[in-house]
Amino acid sequence: MSAEEFLKPKVVISKCIEFDHCRWNGNIITSKVVKILKNYVEFHPVCAEVEIGLGVPRDPIRIIKSENLKLIQPSTMREYTKSMETFAETFISSLNDIDGFIMKFKSPSCGLYETKYHYDEKPGSAVIEKGPGLFGKAVLDNFSNIAVETEARLTNFRIREHWLTKLFILRYFRAIKASDSHNELVEFHSRNKLLLMAYNQNLMRKMGRIVANPLRKSFDDVIEEYEELLIHSVNKPPNFTSHINVLMHALGYFKKTLSSQEKVFYLDELEKYRSGWIPLFVFNELIKVLIVRYNEDYLKNQTYFNPYPQELMNFDIKDTWRGRSYWKK
Ligand code: SF4
Repeated sequence: MSAEEFLKPKVVISKCIEFDHCRWNGNIITSKVVKILKNYVEFHPVCAEVEIGLGVPRDPIRIIKSENLKLIQPSTMREYTKSMETFAETFISSLNDIDGFIMKFKSPSCGLYETKYHYDEKPGSAVIEKGPGLFGKAVLDNFSNIAVETEARLTNFRIREHWLTKLFILRYFRAIKASDSHNELVEFHSRNKLLLMAYNQNLMRKMGRIVANPLRKSFDDVIEEYEELLIHSVNKPPNFTSHINVLMHALGYFKKTLSSQEKVFYLDELEKYRSGWIPLFVFNELIKVLIVRYNEDYLKNQTYFNPYPQELMNFDIKDTWRGRSYWKK
């Protein structure tokens, strides 16, 4: 698929990442990922702190953890908890058809996972816990089903690959929902079969049974059941074993065309992937050569080999992420 054939996902982004100098000190955060994504994504930038009336520049705010979380500006001792919660609620209820979020890592407003919670407002006050910022918490509470990440974590290849895959499959699925067409859903399932197999083979089969629709249910009922399983499937990235299953399955399409030497080469390369010598995308490039050479139509149309625009696979990005993975259980 060419880049033009992918629908543009809608992504809400913390405005200080590549869009505006709205950080407390008037700075902007640079992100190579976001720079490149601008061509492929419809971004909706928002700065929660500016929205609640804090100017630029401003004195920093922090989260104090007592019984509840409080958003405090230590220099003035003003509290912004209520205004941030009200903003978050109003903003979130105004959104529709959003496929993902990119939030500023560690921010007391936008952070998702590692924001510091302090003991009190005094300078140098101890950090007693870490968690989401107040706006970030509202995003996690309301949008745990879609593609939500921080700009810092997106420097990590595996996290970025999963986020992009989820983002583009959810965007594609949103178009299927809007089409109100059972045939479109059948096509969606068929084109995503290997990708869904990599994510969760059992769920992929259940989804196939839903699409077959033996009880002749309405489109609305079918799409609702299907969506529930789709969301569940793409919660966590596929593991090595699942990818190997899919790649072995793909080999089956060439069993009559490949010579025994070529099959041995394919299995050797697969072993290199299994041992961690080569990354998945290198192996996928090998299969794509076979798909073109043998004009294998079924595999050619599989999103597994092209889950998002090709240009997004080739980021030359230094992985600065050294933290934990937060895949949902
Ligand atoms: S982290 Fe969020 S609230 Fe803070 S400057 Fe960036 S966009 Fe604004």
